[in-house]
Amino acid sequence: METGDIISRIRITLRGKVQGVGFRPFIYNLATDLNLTGWVANTGQGVVIDAEGPLSNLDAFLYRIEEEKPPLAHIQGLEHTYLQPEGYTIFEIRESSEGTAKSFWVLPDVATCGDCLEEMFEPQNRRHRYPFTNCTRCGPRFSIMTALPYDRPNTSMDRFEMCGACLGEYEDPQNRRFHAQPNACPQCGPKLSYLDAGGTKQTGGDDALMRAVEALRDGCTVAVKGVGGFHLMADATNEEAIGQLRKRKQREEKPLAVLFPDFESVQQVCDVSSMERRALLSPEAPIVLLHRKNNSLPDNIAPGNPYLGALLPMTPLHHLLTRELGRPVIATSGNLSEETLCTQNDEALQRLDTMADGFLVHDREIVNHLDDSIVRVVLGREMVLRRGRGFAPSTFPITRHWGFGSVDLQVLAVGPHMKNTVALYKDGEIALSQHIGDLVSPHSVTTFQNTINTLTRFYEIQPELVVHDFHPDYASTRYAEDRDMPRDAVQHHFAHVLACMVDNEVPPPALGVSWDGSGYGLDRTVWGGEFLLVTEEGFSREGHFRSFMLPGGEQAVREPRRAALGLLYEMLGKQVFEHNDLMSSLRWSPPEHDVLCGMLDKQINAPRTSSAGRLFDAVSALLGLGNHNRYEGQGAMRLEFATGIFLSPKETKTGPVRSPAREPWISEEEILGTSRNLAAPFLSGIPWSDERYTFRILEMESGKSPAEAVHRYTYVVDWQPMIEEILSDLARRREVSEIATTFHHTLADIVVGMAQLVGEPRVVLSGGCFQNRVLTEMTVTALREAGFQPSWHQRIPPNDGGVAVGQILAALQKEAPKTMV
Ligand SMILES: [Zn+2]
Ligand SMILES: [Zn+2]
Repeated sequence: METGDIISRIRITLRGKVQGVGFRPFIYNLATDLNLTGWVANTGQGVVIDAEGPLSNLDAFLYRIEEEKPPLAHIQGLEHTYLQPEGYTIFEIRESSEGTAKSFWVLPDVATCGDCLEEMFEPQNRRHRYPFTNCTRCGPRFSIMTALPYDRPNTSMDRFEMCGACLGEYEDPQNRRFHAQPNACPQCGPKLSYLDAGGTKQTGGDDALMRAVEALRDGCTVAVKGVGGFHLMADATNEEAIGQLRKRKQREEKPLAVLFPDFESVQQVCDVSSMERRALLSPEAPIVLLHRKNNSLPDNIAPGNPYLGALLPMTPLHHLLTRELGRPVIATSGNLSEETLCTQNDEALQRLDTMADGFLVHDREIVNHLDDSIVRVVLGREMVLRRGRGFAPSTFPITRHWGFGSVDLQVLAVGPHMKNTVALYKDGEIALSQHIGDLVSPHSVTTFQNTINTLTRFYEIQPELVVHDFHPDYASTRYAEDRDMPRDAVQHHFAHVLACMVDNEVPPPALGVSWDGSGYGLDRTVWGGEFLLVTEEGFSREGHFRSFMLPGGEQAVREPRRAALGLLYEMLGKQVFEHNDLMSSLRWSPPEHDVLCGMLDKQINAPRTSSAGRLFDAVSALLGLGNHNRYEGQGAMRLEFATGIFLSPKETKTGPVRSPAREPWISEEEILGTSRNLAAPFLSGIPWSDERYTFRILEMESGKSPAEAVHRYTYVVDWQPMIEEILSDLARRREVSEIATTFHHTLADIVVGMAQLVGEPRVVLSGGCFQNRVLTEMTVTALREAGFQPSWHQRIPPNDGGVAVGQILAALQKEAPKTMV
């Protein structure tokens, strides 16, 4: 079946000037024209549309809203989610509901609107080339807010007194700038300065802009103060300049985002689908991951990566800068590695002085830091990988599906350790913070604390319960422990699954497939390849990948070859060290070899893990794709790219996949003989095979861990036959792209196999591994073909950026029975 024919449902939430401008009748006519059923209503959040019909009609509906909207309407934010159909029979305009309290309404920042852009480039206009032009339809919001309500005295524009002309606009109800809180002009508003590397002011105003442009043309790195923080910029066509930026930022290979002057210039470099185009040009203006169609830009922007993170100018300053330069620039966050973003001028001078040759700054203070948001289109839907500028902060309603719509409790969830975000709960709504970053430095921890303080103040929440990760050593866990209030610990992978269920409004029960790098398990081992059955009461660990040792622990995260060695050791034991061919491809030095040997044999500093992320790493290293990860998830990305699949299923053209030679089934004795982790004898081995690699799902008697307490048996997914077949494919020099593709297909089939065993129709895919487009698309396709209802992430990130939402939900699940009357 063509995916376009599937009956689906889309929920669209629109912010902006969409009320009182004939918007609902417009939506009614458009929906009826496209044979859609459902409803439209005004709510406290804006206009909410719930429409149902064939998927291709829903896509057309989405695009046509923006293209054909009434002349007086202006869209400042559009978020959408595809959901399971409800079975509507008509389309109706529903009565307005008060909905969300105003206090829950903190506006995200909006990219420059068309009218402001036009004015800036009119020579006669009083805002000609003014980099801080804005109006009620566009401009900074959350990034400049110090308090609610959103009025000028509660923003960092407070210190700028409006001139007569600006005040006239501000007070005129007919004017586009009526009550535009950041309203400003060259006479009265913020001004640019250009500082040298030492922080000395060189020049101001338009000259400052031109100095920055010159510096970029000369191959220099310039720190530019943007909406929610500093970017480090360099000419994206200058390989040497990019190399210098990488060196200074100590960022060896992690992809750098590219800011293009306009949409046409993006199209010259990348393939852009209609959904990707929509995202690029949206008021949220995120970074969109696009497939490169040629090598017109230097490879060191994203070494070995067929994708490019592209974004379009989001402020007048960025429009001016890129137009003057006439070419794309690197725009990477102004920070060292994964620390939080730099926002203050003094701080930038201190923290970035070794990285930048000059600073383009201004005197409008950034109050709340905001990284650029990141979006990837998967299966024709947006998947937000990072929620920052344009999206944050944002709220997600807990729907009636969960059965506890109004838990009378205010909750703070402090999130995980890496890619931290925090979340708050009050009155049936979850508020999710902007991306904070890895809590690995004092600066990041301070930003984390400030973000909690700001959001609790903005949303007027006094938490009565704090929720944290089950891991005892996270900075976020320690913060929670220091609070004088009741606490709940939530298992990491459970939180992932719940976040995806909130995102897709999937009610329990559902099978959660939670695959990522690592998370602290209830049995105090490292989990990461989990199958969790989520019910109204909580979860049970139905299954997981067969575990293996990671020699060197944390170090294995940076060296996929260590995961490969651990995997091989699990299969072959000591003998692995005699396989010269296998060992030499992992390139150990003799001393390393001895140390690793000792770790594995004595089981010292070699924690066991069921991590799917590490399984990806291991296979990536075995295929010779790289022994070292220069950034998180690189091994898995290499494996995804090695498939050579860059299009969605209905467009995909893959070559014939040869069926690998079948290894005979390994007997139960052999498995027992090689897997010391299998403490209890398994009861039955259920083979799953098709034209992919072979895998087996074993039914094991559970240990006594609390996770498995409710279950006598747990399924263990054994990857050994697959790895053996991969090794034999390698030995006979099968194409790496074919092996990588078959590996992905096999993992998709593993999910189907587990889903069939567990027997829940709803299957939810979460965790960092499902940022992998090939894996997600294959798994969803395979699940659908087998009759399941798969859900994956859309608005809430599948990576750790979504964990805080799941933490909230886990706490509510536990507390709801106590607070409901
Ligand atoms: Zn505007
Ligand atoms: Zn003015």
